[in-house]
Amino acid sequence: MPSKLIKHFIDSAAGLLAAFTTALFLANIANSRVTQPHDPLFAIPMDSFFWFLALAATAVIFVCVLMRNLSLKLAGIFGFASTLIIYRLGLLSIGAHNANGYADPLAFTFNLSNVSTNCILNVLFLYLFLLSATLLNWTILSASEVVPCKSVSTNGKVYDSLPPLNAHQNISCPACAGRIEFPDCAIGQTVHCPHCQRDITLKESR
Ligand SMILES: [Zn+2]
Repeated sequence: MPSKLIKHFIDSAAGLLAAFTTALFLANIANSRVTQPHDPLFAIPMDSFFWFLALAATAVIFVCVLMRNLSLKLAGIFGFASTLIIYRLGLLSIGAHNANGYADPLAFTFNLSNVSTNCILNVLFLYLFLLSATLLNWTILSASEVVPCKSVSTNGKVYDSLPPLNAHQNISCPACAGRIEFPDCAIGQTVHCPHCQRDITLKESR
C-alpha cells in the first residue's frame, strides 16, 4: 500500500528530525562558552546557525504531526532537506568539501569524530531528500482510481454498480492528493479515498 509507505516515511522523517533538533540543542547548550566558528556562506556564528536549523526542523516536525495532507507533509520535508543540500552544494562551490570544522560542536558533544559526524549528516539529508522527492512525485503522478456508482437499497445496504462510461468527474483527494475518478451519479457521496482510505465527499469537478 503506497500511502502506508508514505506514512511510514513521514513518521521516520519526523523522528529523525526530532533527534537532529535535540542534537543541535544539546550541542549549543554544551558549547555555549566555546569560541564559535562562523558558517562560511552566511558568516553567522555556528550556534546561531544551529538555532535556526533547529527552529526550521521543529516547524517541519509540526507540519508532519499536525497537518492531514500527506503531500503537504512531504513538501515540508522536501523543502527542508533540499535547502540543506543546496547549502551543502554552496559549501562545495566555495571549496569546503565537507562540514568538518563547522559541525565541531556536534562532534564534541557526542564524542564523535568529524568524519563520522559528516557521514551521519550526509546520510540523514540524502535519505530525507531522496525519499521525499520520490514519494512527492509518486503522489502527484499517481493514476486516478475509479470510485463506482453506489445505490442504497431500502434496508440501508450499499450495492456497488459499475460506473457509466460517460460523465466522469475527476478530483484530487484533499488529504493525499491522489486522483479520484467517479461518475456523476456518485456526486455528494462520502466514500473512502482509494489511495489513503480517509473519508472524502465527492464533489463536482467542474
Ligand atoms: Zn486520499
